[in-house]
Amino acid sequence: MSHVAGAEVTRALDLETDVVVIGSGPAGSSAARELAGAGARVVVVEEGPWVQPEDAPASAFGAMSRLYRDMGASVVLGAAPIPYLQGRMVGGSSPINGAICWRLPRDVWDAWCAADPSLRDALAWDELEALTDELEARLGVAPTEPAVAGRKNLLMAQGADALGLAHRPTRRNVRGCTGSGRCLQGCPHGFKQSADVTLLADALAHGATLLSDVAAREIVRSGGRAGEVCGRARGGGPVRLRARHAIVLAASAVQTPALLLRNRIAHGPVGENFQCHPGVSLAGRFREPVRMWEGATQGHEVTGLRGEGLKFEALGFDLTVLAARLEGVGRDLARSIADRAHWLDWGAAVRAEARGRVRSIAGRAVVTFTPSALDVQRFRRGLRILGEMMLAAGAEVVHPGVRGFAPHVTSPAVLADLERDGPSRPAAYTSAITHMFGTCRMGRDPRTSVVRPDFRHHQIDGLWIADSSVFPTSLGVNPQIPIMAVAACCARRVLAACR
Ligand SMILES: Cc1cc2nc3c(=O)[nH]c(=O)nc-3n(C[C@H](O)[C@H](O)[C@H](O)COP(=O)(O)OP(=O)(O)OC[C@H]3O[C@@H](n4cnc5c(N)ncnc54)[C@H](O)[C@@H]3O)c2cc1C
Ligand code: SF4
Repeated sequence: MSHVAGAEVTRALDLETDVVVIGSGPAGSSAARELAGAGARVVVVEEGPWVQPEDAPASAFGAMSRLYRDMGASVVLGAAPIPYLQGRMVGGSSPINGAICWRLPRDVWDAWCAADPSLRDALAWDELEALTDELEARLGVAPTEPAVAGRKNLLMAQGADALGLAHRPTRRNVRGCTGSGRCLQGCPHGFKQSADVTLLADALAHGATLLSDVAAREIVRSGGRAGEVCGRARGGGPVRLRARHAIVLAASAVQTPALLLRNRIAHGPVGENFQCHPGVSLAGRFREPVRMWEGATQGHEVTGLRGEGLKFEALGFDLTVLAARLEGVGRDLARSIADRAHWLDWGAAVRAEARGRVRSIAGRAVVTFTPSALDVQRFRRGLRILGEMMLAAGAEVVHPGVRGFAPHVTSPAVLADLERDGPSRPAAYTSAITHMFGTCRMGRDPRTSVVRPDFRHHQIDGLWIADSSVFPTSLGVNPQIPIMAVAACCARRVLAACR
C-alpha cells in the first residue's frame, strides 16, 4: 500500500502511472479498485485529507469545517439559497453520509434505455446487478437491526403504518453498528463501511497509490489526447501525474464538470442538466423523550411514495443542528433547546424535475438551480404527510419550518391546508441537497452528451468520466451504490480499451 500525504509534499512530485483517478469518493474508489484489481498501475488523487475514524469530529460544526467542502456552506444560486453538501476528504461524501443503500431501480434504468437505446448494452442490467451484488457483499449492506434502531426510527414505522404507507428499516453499509447516530460527522468507531475503508482499501492493497490533500487543477492535452494531470499539494509542492492510458474523472457531479470547464473542455452539454433530490424536513415534539441522537442515524425510510417522487427518511444529527432547526427566539428558544430530548426530525427527499447548471467561475464551481412549481408542490405534499405521520405516531406538535405558514401545527387539517395553499415560493422552504447527477451525461450524440456510452469523452482521447455526472437522470433514491456500480463499469471499459 502506498499513501502520499499532500501536507508533507513541499517540493515537486512527478509520477508516471497507467491510470490517474481524480477523486476518492464512491465513484473514484470503485473505479480504482476495479482497475488495480486487474493489475493496472493506479494513482488516486484526492483534494481532501485522509481522516481516520477515531479522528472524526464529534460536533456538526467540527465535521462541517474539516470534512465538508466549503465548510458545508456551498449554496446553489437561484430563487432559493439551497445548501448542497459534499464531503471533501478521502472517501468523498461516503464517510459523512447517512449509510443508506439502494440498488439502481429497474424503472429508472428502463427510462434511461428508452431515451437512449445504446445504454441497454453500455450499462447492461445484468452486469450492473452482478456488480451491485458484489459491492453490497463487500460493504456489508443489510437492513437496520431493531436493536440499534432507536426511537426516531421505530416511530417512523409507527407513523407510516398509521397512514398505510409502505416502509422498511433502511438497508445500510455498516458492520457492528451500535447506533451512535453520528454518521453525518463520520463514524468514530469505523463501523460504517464507507468507500475509504472498503473499496479504496482494496485498491491500495492491490498496489494503487493514494495522494491525499492534493488538488488536481490542470488536465494537460497534446494532439487531442489527455495524458497528464497537474495540481498542487497542500504542502505547497507542484504535482505532475503522467497517465500512460487514461485519466478517469470521479470528482462528483459538481466538481467534475467544474474541472472540465476550468480547463476549457466545454464540448457538449458539460455542466448542464444538473439534477438533484432537494430534501425538506419537519420537526416535532413528543411528550416522552425520544432522544433523536440515539439509534442508527438514518435507520428507517418510507418507500411507498417513490412513484410520486418522494422518499421519507428518519434523520439523526448533532444537537447543534437540531437547535438551529427549532422555532422561536429568546426564552422560547432556550426552553426548546432545554427540551431537545423530546424532539424528532424526519426528512422528505424530492426527485426534482427542475434542472440546473454547473459553471466554473474564477476556478470555483458555481451551481444554479431553482425548484419548479411541481417540486415546490412536492415539498408541500411531503411536509404534509410527514406531519400526519408524526402526529399519528404521537407528536403533540409539529413544525413544518415553512416561512409564511403556521410555525406550530397540531392538526392534520392544517397540514392539508399546507399542501393545498402553502407558499409557492421555493425560498419559503428550508431544504438541502446531497444527491446530484447528470452534468456530463452519457450518450451517443456529442451534441446532447459529454461522454460516449463507454464513458470516454466524445472529443478528448484518454479522458473518461466515472461518477454520477454521466447519469442521464436523477434516481429518486440514495445513489451511492449505483454510483459505485456504474464507476466499476467505467473502469472495465477503460481496461478493455487499454488492452
Ligand atoms: C451529508 C450527506 C449524506 C448523504 N447520505 C447518503 C446516503 O445515506 N446514501 C447514499 O446513497 N448517498 C448519500 N449521500 C450522497 C452520496 O454520498 C454521494 O452521492 C456520493 O458520495 C457521490 O460520490 P462521488 O464519488 O461521485 O463524489 P464524492 O463522494 O463527492 O467524492 C468526490 C471526491 O473528489 C474530490 N475532488 C473533487 N475535485 C477534486 C480535484 N480537483 N482534485 C482532487 N480531488 C477532487 C472531493 O474532495 C471528493 O472527496 C449523502 C451525501 C451527503 C453529503
Ligand atoms: S450510527 Fe453510529 S455506530 Fe452506526 S455507523 Fe453511524 S456513526 Fe457508526
